[in-house]
Amino acid sequence: MANPANRHIAVSFEFFPPADDAGEARLWETINQLAPLEPEFLSVTYGAGGSTQVHTDRIVRRILKETRQCPTAHLTCVGQSRAEVLERARNWWKAGVRSILALRGDPPKGEHTFQPHPDGFQHAAELVGALKEIAPFTIGVGGYPEVHPCSPSEAADTENLKRKVDAGADRIITQYFFETADFLRFRDRCARAGIRVPIIPGVMPIFNFTKVQRFSQGCGAKIPQWLADRFDGLDADPETRALVAASVASEQCNHLIAEGVRHFHFYTLNRYRLTYAVCRAIGVAPAVTAKAA
Ligand code: FAD
Repeated sequence: MANPANRHIAVSFEFFPPADDAGEARLWETINQLAPLEPEFLSVTYGAGGSTQVHTDRIVRRILKETRQCPTAHLTCVGQSRAEVLERARNWWKAGVRSILALRGDPPKGEHTFQPHPDGFQHAAELVGALKEIAPFTIGVGGYPEVHPCSPSEAADTENLKRKVDAGADRIITQYFFETADFLRFRDRCARAGIRVPIIPGVMPIFNFTKVQRFSQGCGAKIPQWLADRFDGLDADPETRALVAASVASEQCNHLIAEGVRHFHFYTLNRYRLTYAVCRAIGVAPAVTAKAA
């Protein structure tokens, strides 16, 4: 039964633009399966290369047209001039998009350092300021509980986040992390720096431990030994793996709820089952079920 105490927990879900028809079908199945949980918003990532950006645009528009959900479009500074980036944002505003996650972006595949376009934005803070000038978007920015991998120090990272908030960001969505204490320390750092906007922890339910391990090396999220131990020897046992994954993510959410967190942003990887299970485990239920409970 849903835990009535947790019905006020808000959730949001992140998706990426799929590469083929099978992926497209899975994405829409995922969106439809998660919709009854009444997410605050559905966010759609923006690829570093040119091609997936078109798909971000298409999916965001389709969410607006075919669902009652609120899309948050990710937008980056990579490979485009300021004018091109802002043109995309203006078109989104005209189409009815009201929420953007403003990011610097990662370098395209094969490149290791971020090279701004000659006429482009250098950092997310610049993008936030420019977006606020063109329309009253709700702007989210990225936050890094374990410090952004290119940041020289924790202090510099916090200063950068403060710059993004001072430029107009309305909320922070964090990179995923597995040590809850890292998030709590980050939240304290933000409070000390005078950052007052909501900080939404990103939660990664572990669908595939090997892939998460690989991805984590790039984005600077550490994999604690206790986590590796839980998945150890389960490569050929997907059912147990899924149960462990649901338990790890719901433990983390429950710990964060006890620390006052009331909104979780789930990295769904375009799959619904695990995220849905975690939501149910922390008491987030479809409205009709919650009423009946
Ligand atoms: P910034 O805030 O600009 O910071 C980037 C680095 O530059 C930091 O190390 C910062 O300390 C440094 N810096 C910033 N300003 C200055 C300055 N004035 N002087 C010196 N140094 C400075 N990437 C994508 O490509 N597409 C996505 O859809 C996407 N979605 C994401 C969603 C979330 C929730 C998060 C947390 C990240 C996402 N990313 C995405 C990854 C993100 O683009 C990378 O982490 C990127 O490397 C940094 O982006 P940022 O917006 O945090 O950059």
